Amino acid sequence: QAQEIDVVVLGGGAAGLMCAVEAGWRGRHVVLLDHAERVGKKILISGGGRCNFTNIHCRAENFLSENPHFAKSALARFTPADIIALVEKHGIRYHEKTLGQLFCDRSAMDVVTMLERECMAAGVRVVTGTKVLSVKHDAKFVVETSAGTFRAKSVVVATGGLSIPKMGATGFGYSLAEQFGLRVAECRPALVPLVMSGEDASAWCDLTGLSAEVVAVAGTKRRRGSFREKMLVTHRGLSGPAILQVSSYWRAGEKIEIDLAPNVAVFAPMLAKNARRDASAAVNALRAVLPGRLAERWVVLHEPKDWTNASLATLEREVHEWHVSPAGTEGYAKAEVTAGGVDTAELDAKTMESRKVPGLYFIGEVVDVTGWLGGYNFQWAWASGVSAGQAV
Ligand code: FAD
Repeated sequence: QAQEIDVVVLGGGAAGLMCAVEAGWRGRHVVLLDHAERVGKKILISGGGRCNFTNIHCRAENFLSENPHFAKSALARFTPADIIALVEKHGIRYHEKTLGQLFCDRSAMDVVTMLERECMAAGVRVVTGTKVLSVKHDAKFVVETSAGTFRAKSVVVATGGLSIPKMGATGFGYSLAEQFGLRVAECRPALVPLVMSGEDASAWCDLTGLSAEVVAVAGTKRRRGSFREKMLVTHRGLSGPAILQVSSYWRAGEKIEIDLAPNVAVFAPMLAKNARRDASAAVNALRAVLPGRLAERWVVLHEPKDWTNASLATLEREVHEWHVSPAGTEGYAKAEVTAGGVDTAELDAKTMESRKVPGLYFIGEVVDVTGWLGGYNFQWAWASGVSAGQAV
């Protein structure tokens, strides 16, 4: 016997929980289902265990999507100030780490507990450890699960992306979208370390652990990302915030450009009269902006035939325009998010409801809206969740 309810939310991550709470407070009879044994698992590991739950500078420009305007409406509906108010209502202490990024002082568990308490207060029924077997649609949606069958007027898909499959990420939301005839923009790992191979790998990867503040740039004129943040050399290639950020803009076969010494004329002192002009002088100059071993390696690999002014000018340019050809990314196993997803053209930007299938909603990471590193992805999850929660 199917249970009659108003809303089934599939997926108890940031977006699903927020949507369920909003709909519950509106008096909707909501069941939230998750196949994991508990909700909010990704929130728990986020932000190094402290959950970077928003970014106070959040704007639509901080997101990638085939339609860069799509996120605007939801982001205006539920802003960083709104999530801060909720966090404060629950007495959670937080701080700004850098660049507008807000983290919990104590633990990401505070955010999960907050959402669980809100669910309880709003009368949301949370059912974990449950497999969704099928979703069908006649007059209403019929959701068959390992915990019974639900008939509901609305189904909200909040099953997230493909990143961190070890934690139970599935392509369920994309398959469901396709089952109902919605287009899915091609998915790819984003906010992910880049891998080097061949000569690049042997030239750099033994310097693992070294880092520097750089400007990294990737993409084309239409989709170009430029970030001034830390870059980190890893045993497989490059990582650190600057690289994670540009990885979302990068496509296979393209180069990324790295300015290793932003706003510094590194070799200018070597142009002075009587200044020493040789490799060790170049290393010394570069040490002002890079760790010693990185500076040494860079000069070994770029040493000019002579030390004329023209050669120094070329060296200067190369240090600001270091071109790297990544062989690939570390994939979904290491990606913080999945770029691509349910095509925004299929959804109403105010409600997240499918245009083709009324009553079917998609929110959070499963949608083709991908935030920068720094709290933007949770802000999208909260905002899209609230938007759907106000509409179901
Ligand atoms: P998810 O949080 O992935 O939730 C999806 C839910 O659906 C899960 O509970 C899952 O169990 C469930 N599910 C999946 N498939 C099924 C199925 N078939 N049946 C039933 N249930 C299913 N973003 C930030 O803004 N700040 C951060 O600090 C941050 N840190 C991160 C750190 C790491 C290591 C990672 C991997 C990501 C981080 N992110 C961060 C990104 C952020 O976690 C995600 O963008 C966000 O969690 C997406 O929310 P969501 O609700 O759409 O999906």
